[in-house]
Amino acid sequence: MTRRDDLAANLHAVRTRVAAACSSAGRSPDAVTLVAVTKSWPADDVRLLAGLGVTDVGENRDQEARVKFAACADLTLRWHFVGRLQRNKSGSVARYADVVHSVDRVPLVEALAAAAGAVGRQVSALVQVDLDDDPAPGRGGAAPADVPALAAAVADAGSLLLGGVMAVAPVGLDPDVAFARLAAVATALRRAHPAATIVSAGMSGDLEAAIRHGATHVRVGTALLGPRASPFG
Ligand SMILES: *Cc1c(COP(=O)(O)O)cnc(C)c1O
Repeated sequence: MTRRDDLAANLHAVRTRVAAACSSAGRSPDAVTLVAVTKSWPADDVRLLAGLGVTDVGENRDQEARVKFAACADLTLRWHFVGRLQRNKSGSVARYADVVHSVDRVPLVEALAAAAGAVGRQVSALVQVDLDDDPAPGRGGAAPADVPALAAAVADAGSLLLGGVMAVAPVGLDPDVAFARLAAVATALRRAHPAATIVSAGMSGDLEAAIRHGATHVRVGTALLGPRASPFG
């Protein structure tokens, strides 16, 4: 088996899971975009996945993502930044990211908007929501109560488009409970911002639960590329 064969088999298996989950939920499989999370894997894998029909890739560390983006500049891909983002990395991320999934505080909104404006790009921003029973600053994600203000800040920022919401199911919480919480936040957000339709939820282990609760984007790494060796996970 070549690496391409492995990736093709994994991609087929993941697409089959997504289709089955959509079917069980009475949703069209076209309603869910697969984001291949290629962190810790080489640009050659991104290239193979693109050749197999993957259109969206996700990365979580700027220093790795920007190198891979440059190596794949000849490919037509949408790049998703899904990791914790420090303000001082906004300038770099705004050059290649089409969607930033991890906007969780107002100073980051301001930095990202300024950075996107400086390079003349429109970046779609998702408000990351902390779904823990007890949301805590620093963990990644805004408390549900803080989402309306953050969303308003994104919507008011030139160069940013409010895309919707993103979350990671907290360890120890039933993903169905977590993603039901996210669905409620997303519904409230759409009332104020009807175009903010993205719900980024679900990874290798819980994409079915996410799709049951309305995910429009699933972020899948391990099930597509294999287990990561990197301690940065
Ligand atoms: C790594 C990562 C994923 C993919 O996780 P897998 O379990 O490998 O599918 C999804 N979302 C975020 C934010 C990640 O950091």
